[in-house]
Amino acid sequence: MKKPVLTTAGGHPVSQNQHSLTAGSRGPLLMQDMHLVEKLAHFNRERIPERVVHAKGSGAYGTFTVTQDITRFTRASVFAGIGKTTPTFLRFSTVAGERGSADTERDPRGFALKFYTDEGIWDIVGNNTPVFFERDPLKFPDFIHSQKRDPRTGYKNPIRMWDYWSRAPEAMHQITILFSDRGIPDGYRYMNGYGSHTFSLWNNGGERFWVKFHFKSMQGIKNLPPEKAAQLAGSDPDYAGRDLFEAIEAGQFPRWKMMVQIMPELDAERQSFNPFDLTKVWPHNEYPLQEVGILELNRNPENYFAEVEQAAFSPANVPPGIGYSPDKMLQARLFAYPDAARYRIGVNYQSLPVNRPLNQVTAYHRDGGMRFDNNGGRVDNYEPNGFNGPAQDESVTEPPLRIRGDAFRYDAHRENDDFTQAGNLYRILTGEERERLTDNIAAAMRGVPAEILRPNIEHFLRCDQDYGLKIAAKVGIKL
Ligand code: NDP
Repeated sequence: MKKPVLTTAGGHPVSQNQHSLTAGSRGPLLMQDMHLVEKLAHFNRERIPERVVHAKGSGAYGTFTVTQDITRFTRASVFAGIGKTTPTFLRFSTVAGERGSADTERDPRGFALKFYTDEGIWDIVGNNTPVFFERDPLKFPDFIHSQKRDPRTGYKNPIRMWDYWSRAPEAMHQITILFSDRGIPDGYRYMNGYGSHTFSLWNNGGERFWVKFHFKSMQGIKNLPPEKAAQLAGSDPDYAGRDLFEAIEAGQFPRWKMMVQIMPELDAERQSFNPFDLTKVWPHNEYPLQEVGILELNRNPENYFAEVEQAAFSPANVPPGIGYSPDKMLQARLFAYPDAARYRIGVNYQSLPVNRPLNQVTAYHRDGGMRFDNNGGRVDNYEPNGFNGPAQDESVTEPPLRIRGDAFRYDAHRENDDFTQAGNLYRILTGEERERLTDNIAAAMRGVPAEILRPNIEHFLRCDQDYGLKIAAKVGIKL
């Protein structure tokens, strides 16, 4: 079969792609070899800024199918009736490592799920953990700095991590999950996903319900022992991405059961814990999990850069029937995620094939860098207008949100208990799991001075006496 002709980016046939243009066979290059210049200039620009967090990732397309009716809670079209299907794209990631880092690090895993619904994109930008290290976004950049590289040496430094955590007791719950067996999942197929934040559902009757989203792996939970993970970090740093890709290529489509916990709007005021605090779960016995549907991943991307690296997710993307909540971390992410995508990919990132909705977009935004679609064509660019252009639809108005309280910088520690739920997790672990958890913590504390360890151990003691005592013994701190 005849090969197609190679062209420049401008579409000109290329006469020679192996030999540069030179003055004489041993002579210097000529500046006018514009094919060479274009090739090198484009190559220099192949990388876009990597994500500051969640840089290393893998993704796949799939289908979400409704199995149980929750239309009494929400008008969202994605849930409109048993059997309804919606196309999806899911990007998994590690958090702290750079784009070339190993998949088998001890780290939370990102679980960023895009639904291409009939009424626009819905993104659940979650993790494999139901909680997070922080509840106040003002602390997020400091927290991430402390976990990333030492500004002087360029190395990761456990002293900085534990120094930060000694001053952040709200991290205890997530620390306990991170250092438990689930801190190193055996690839992406064998872990759960969680929306983590509290979101809301609202129905056409004007009722609002608070909701937590859970995705339970139907492959079961499988984790890697730390020694095996360390070995894989050297021999197969792309282990998790490869496992996902190869399973899908082989027709072994991974599945997750989507479940929700639902809280009536006014219950939030009666709870002893703050249901909008990202360091807390809603206990299952008070808010039981209800099945909603099945998520299946069944198609690999054709091009990693176009579809995985350029994928952009934002918890701000919600269709009518789904809403936000007062969770401070969620509120900040509503701004931070689209802001990061505009910086990383460009202002028109939502028009890229992996990011754009399947329904028609009729916004009046125009222009901006890399506007590669028809830019709204001949439709005029202001609203309201007299030319019958796209107009608002008040039938998708969210019910009003009740808010009360004085604007103030509230110290959440005064009204919060940072230790009970972390202790609850410790107490449901088996004896062997507790040993491994405390071994992992002790190993991560190696080289950290006693004056930094002591306040940390104080926190573990407050979660559960046995938890703190075990760690103290393993790191050789006398109490
Ligand atoms: P339950 O006993 O009803 O639920 C315990 C949950 O813990 C189960 O969902 C189980 O997941 C999960 N789990 C088991 N081992 C680990 C681990 N190493 N890391 C993370 N999760 C694990 O109790 P409660 O609802 O009262 O919660 C008790 C504690 O369980 C919480 O403080 C929290 O740390 C943890 N948890 C709670 C969740 C919730 O939404 N309530 C969700 C996840 C964890 P599985 O069923 O898949 O085995």
